[in-house]
Amino acid sequence: MLSTPINIHLPRHPHLVTSLPGPRAQAIIERDRAVTSPSYTRDYPLVVARGEGCMIEDVDGNVFLDMTAGIAVTNTGHAHPEVVAAIQTQSARLLHMSGTDFYYEPMVELAEKLAARAPFPQGAKIFFTNSGAESNEGAIKLARYYTKRSAIVACLGAFHGRTYGAMSLTASKVVQRASFGPLVPGVTHIPYGTHASLDYLEKQLFNTTLPPQEVAAIVVEAIQGEGGYIVPEDGFLQRIRQICDRYGILMIVDEVQSGMGRTGRLFAIEHWGVMPDMITTAKGIASGLPLGAILAKPELMTWPPGAHATTFGGNPVACVAGITTMRLLENGLMANASSMGELLQAGLQNLHQRFPVMSSPRGKGLMVAVDLIDIAGNLDHKLRDRIIQQAFLRGLLLLGCGKAAIRFCPPLVIDSNQIQIALQILSEILLESRA
Ligand code: PLP
Repeated sequence: MLSTPINIHLPRHPHLVTSLPGPRAQAIIERDRAVTSPSYTRDYPLVVARGEGCMIEDVDGNVFLDMTAGIAVTNTGHAHPEVVAAIQTQSARLLHMSGTDFYYEPMVELAEKLAARAPFPQGAKIFFTNSGAESNEGAIKLARYYTKRSAIVACLGAFHGRTYGAMSLTASKVVQRASFGPLVPGVTHIPYGTHASLDYLEKQLFNTTLPPQEVAAIVVEAIQGEGGYIVPEDGFLQRIRQICDRYGILMIVDEVQSGMGRTGRLFAIEHWGVMPDMITTAKGIASGLPLGAILAKPELMTWPPGAHATTFGGNPVACVAGITTMRLLENGLMANASSMGELLQAGLQNLHQRFPVMSSPRGKGLMVAVDLIDIAGNLDHKLRDRIIQQAFLRGLLLLGCGKAAIRFCPPLVIDSNQIQIALQILSEILLESRA
């Protein structure tokens, strides 16, 4: 069967019409194998033809419920009609001119909107990029430029991207670094999320190997993403702010995954009332078009013309998608992320009580995860991987993170019925794996 014509809506629940992968999917995967890099990590053989809201249709006409949002990107849902209309209108008018060398209004307008919402005392200045990695590259360059210091502190378990600067901060999986060295020097990693870690930084590192007056920035995820959707201990982020203030260090919060409404606030750091010096973002900012941004307190953006630039970053089509995304987030989607997140966590808590192999849920809004645990109480990544495979075969799209976690990061348009469907599928799989 072919995929559904574009003028017909997809069902709002999974609907499988072939065995998986179907024949068209199989043929495309074979072609893919011959010509694309083996470094891509495809957990299951999903070949996507179309997306609508929370639903994905594959090339054989199978319909899946998407709890991944293309790795936390399509926050307004797949192909939101208002985002699509904005893209269509803008692309007929101007596809590209380069915001590095020229001016155009969509870039200014999106910067104004981000500056107005940045959790800084007095507005923000924005540098647009093409990705999360590029946002983090730029942020550490700006931190070094502004402070005239070189050392950077990052966290174990962090994921900040795969280009050299960002990769040097990343400390999530060894495969992401192995054989790529030497990396950018001057990066020190501390454990994520605990007061013990900050004690170690202040009492050990700052008194032995790492003079605090040489540290340009502490880079930290508000909620650790790829590392396992880890919510930090109360006071952790506040204390980083205090340490930064004490030693003149900049606090850079990576909101590439946790930002743009995913946790029910525009930026997850707002849950803790902490004002960082810079925020990096990407993923959800333009509902699926490649765009990222560095938000910095205005007084930090002291670098002169030519010090940092990019051909594509802030592309006009991506910017109108971003402007529309921000409007949709403010007009209901962030509120939906909060209420659907609560429903999801309550349902997962219920599953945890019935199936102790699954931990209690953690997270905020629609950035939620559970761990899978074996009978001895150890993290069980094989069980996690099996559950993700089984979910796919039942029409539910999930992704892993951390050592043995399943992450739930659906489009923020998800409704309560779809949450119940996801929970029902999980419960059937857990029941079967117990038998
Ligand atoms: N920072 C965080 C917290 C991320 O989760 C990611 C990607 O998953 C990145 C940075 C890198 O973003 P990109 O893949 O767009 O370079």
